[in-house]
Amino acid sequence: MPADEQGDTERPGGGPDAAPSPPHARRHRWAGRAVELLRAEAAAVGPTPLLRYPLPSAWGPRLYLKDESAQPTGSLKHRLVRAMFLHALADGRITEGTPVVVATGGAVAVAGAAIAGRLGVPFHAVVPRAAAPALTARIEPLGAQVTVGDPPAAVHAEAARLAERLGGHFMDHFADAERAVTGCGEPTIAEETFQQLAGEDHPLPHWIVTGAGTGATAAAFGRHLRRHGLPTGLAVVDPENSAYFPGWAAGVPDYATGVPSRIAGIGRPRMEPGFVPSLVDLMVPVPDAASIAAMRHLRAATGRSLGGSSGTTLWGACHLLARMLAEGTRGSVVIIAGDHAEPYRHTYDDDAWLRQQGLDPTPHAQVLERFFATGEWSPG
Ligand SMILES: *Cc1c(COP(=O)(O)O)cnc(C)c1O
Repeated sequence: MPADEQGDTERPGGGPDAAPSPPHARRHRWAGRAVELLRAEAAAVGPTPLLRYPLPSAWGPRLYLKDESAQPTGSLKHRLVRAMFLHALADGRITEGTPVVVATGGAVAVAGAAIAGRLGVPFHAVVPRAAAPALTARIEPLGAQVTVGDPPAAVHAEAARLAERLGGHFMDHFADAERAVTGCGEPTIAEETFQQLAGEDHPLPHWIVTGAGTGATAAAFGRHLRRHGLPTGLAVVDPENSAYFPGWAAGVPDYATGVPSRIAGIGRPRMEPGFVPSLVDLMVPVPDAASIAAMRHLRAATGRSLGGSSGTTLWGACHLLARMLAEGTRGSVVIIAGDHAEPYRHTYDDDAWLRQQGLDPTPHAQVLERFFATGEWSPG
């Protein structure tokens, strides 16, 4: 690795007693400084907002929204990528000058480019051709490089090869994020959320509702609930074409649909290593047109422009709130809003795109309107 070579050729340090500074001391010092930088960034960002979602005043149950769009690069991936950097730094897999390679044109690449830039290590994203122009515009100004992997199915293998050729670190988020968050993600999103709820009427919610992409966020909550013996349930919402709901329901660990999800960030064509089914108490499949209707409803109700997966969680929360209303349960539900709506101006927020995809949010929008006006939940 380049950093090793640098370390080996480093001259002894010139401290007051002129003791020779071994190369490992320099490497440890660099890693320590990098960890400190990332911890300082996390502390400066602080907890993302936990908002009270406006519900009819007569309702018993409450709904909260944990707004991860407030992360520095606009999505919850920032938290996951920071944890993966911390984990790889602690393991000695990222040292001074180590190139970091990811296999995605999504939010992991944007967060990774920002964090690598902060640490001064080179960063490469290998992406399908279609994703390259938009990503290049976003991350090249941060000093990162975009490489096209062709065909799209080869992006993962190509990223691994590029990392090997560069003597770099392949940051494979579908394999690494869940472990990194558990080992180095403190405070986790779960600790943060429960701390914020401590001052509310119902400090222990009935349900936490999140989507699953890498599965790291769901795992952080699922583990927290068990470690602290909390009564809260973990519900994972899942879009069309995803392998997670059928794999979880059938107990098949290698279930695959082979078809990508249309809701960015969540739903996968196969069960990923970071998705831990035993941590999930309930899964709610959500039609894609319903996710989009709910994303728009959320914006109208709160004034916040959040992404498609936030809509998916809102739809799932309606399902659970309807049950609570019917049973007369008080308590609360917390949804995780994964990102901002900005990246979706030409997709979810474009009616021509929706028509082209055969998605009609209108009937779902009517279901939502009826629910929030009357408490009657009839998703059909
Ligand atoms: C990644 C992502 C999720 C899911 O989070 P994981 O921890 O990866 O399961 C949800 N929403 C958005 C927008 C995402 O990018």
